[in-house]
Amino acid sequence: MPWNNEFECMPLDELRKFQLEKLKETVEWVTARVPFYRQLFQKKGISADDIKNIKDIVKLPFTVKNDLRDNYPFGICAVPIKEAVRIHTSSGTTGKPVTALYTEKDVNDWSECVARCLWAYGVREHDIVQNAYGYGLFTGGLGLHQGIARINATALPISTGSTELQVSLMQDFKTSVLCSTPSYALTIAEKALEMGIDIKRLPLRLGIFGAEPWSEKIRLTIEERMGIKAMDIFGLTEMGGPGMAYECRFQNGSHINEDHYLAEIVNPATLEPVPAGEKGELVLTSLQRRAMPLIRFRTKDITRFVEEDCPCGRTFVKMERISGRTDDMLIINGVNVFPSQIESFLLDMEEVAPQYRLIVRKRGHLDKLIIQVEANKEIYAHNRAKRYETESKIMSHIKGNLGIRVDVRLVEPGTIERSTGKAARVVDERPDQLR
Ligand code: ADP
Ligand code: ZN
Repeated sequence: MPWNNEFECMPLDELRKFQLEKLKETVEWVTARVPFYRQLFQKKGISADDIKNIKDIVKLPFTVKNDLRDNYPFGICAVPIKEAVRIHTSSGTTGKPVTALYTEKDVNDWSECVARCLWAYGVREHDIVQNAYGYGLFTGGLGLHQGIARINATALPISTGSTELQVSLMQDFKTSVLCSTPSYALTIAEKALEMGIDIKRLPLRLGIFGAEPWSEKIRLTIEERMGIKAMDIFGLTEMGGPGMAYECRFQNGSHINEDHYLAEIVNPATLEPVPAGEKGELVLTSLQRRAMPLIRFRTKDITRFVEEDCPCGRTFVKMERISGRTDDMLIINGVNVFPSQIESFLLDMEEVAPQYRLIVRKRGHLDKLIIQVEANKEIYAHNRAKRYETESKIMSHIKGNLGIRVDVRLVEPGTIERSTGKAARVVDERPDQLR
């Protein structure tokens, strides 16, 4: 049974009706309270009365991250500070962090959404949940914490960092569930190995990972190294935080908490809805938030809807795992390259570890992409010729598949800085790209 059967399994016609009602309410709410939206709607000549059907959402204007930056810190908020109980900010992965404001009801709804996720993953009252997401301004730590409390499991609020302590508490307290970014989970697994502790033999059975894109291969690597089941959790600060979408045990995409968020997928170039089942940019409208509702927020995250009725019984639509952000895309001498494409190749190779960095530089008029990747211990111990052979293999594969010439440098195991939160794998040193 889901955590909230009434909503998670609501018949679709009822769910759409509910969404329509909440959408109209939200449009009215921001029209009355947020000059930014009032003006946008006026310009478009649109009001809540024009929303007769959920599909009419396309009549509404988009909101982008820069609108939030331009209205920093509270310009886009719909309640005065005295009605708010919490402020968070985003991580700032792509520039100046943006603010999120919450009323008590917003925090409550958010906790409910996270509780649904945890319950779907199989977290229960008897679990000790080691929460290694950063506590503080970042939404991950407190977001998960509230959900853990809501379902009455036991929180271990360790936050991020202190990796040795993560491992020893995991052992001492018999942690059963770990929450962190996938890249930090790999860091923890590696530290355990160094400490001579085999996580696979500990009671840890489940991992809840999100906040950054991660591939199926990374999932398998983590599952194998930790001896656990790894589940995906998705969210973003602009919509409250983690807990917007979650995998069920069938793990064919993540259910979106549709009573709280209306999801669309648009073509990022034309901004038109994509044909059913096609990939595009995820656009989200919050349906129940009060302090900072956003209309048609362009997430820049790329995904597609999974067109199937889920055997778990939840009626919420599912989205495929995020394959990247539109702004992750590197343009190398005119060729579009997603870091995930390079990652997926590196992860296939036995000769290297899943630790890499992509450095982009300008040489004259040309862009140069340098891939630094850690060799595995054996390869590194080998003579230079063996390393050279591996480098050439990666170079020619990337040339053959992505059409770009890259420099590959195999580096010593353990030398690439380990992530404790969101991994920063791309360093773009081109003068016009510095953020
Ligand atoms: P920032 O945009 O500064 O990173 P947030 O800390 O709010 O701000 O992070 C939200 C973003 O993190 C999402 O838009 C998405 O790009 C990424 N993200 C969150 N969860 C996942 C996930 N499960 N899979 C892939 N990407 C994710
Ligand atoms: Zn399901």
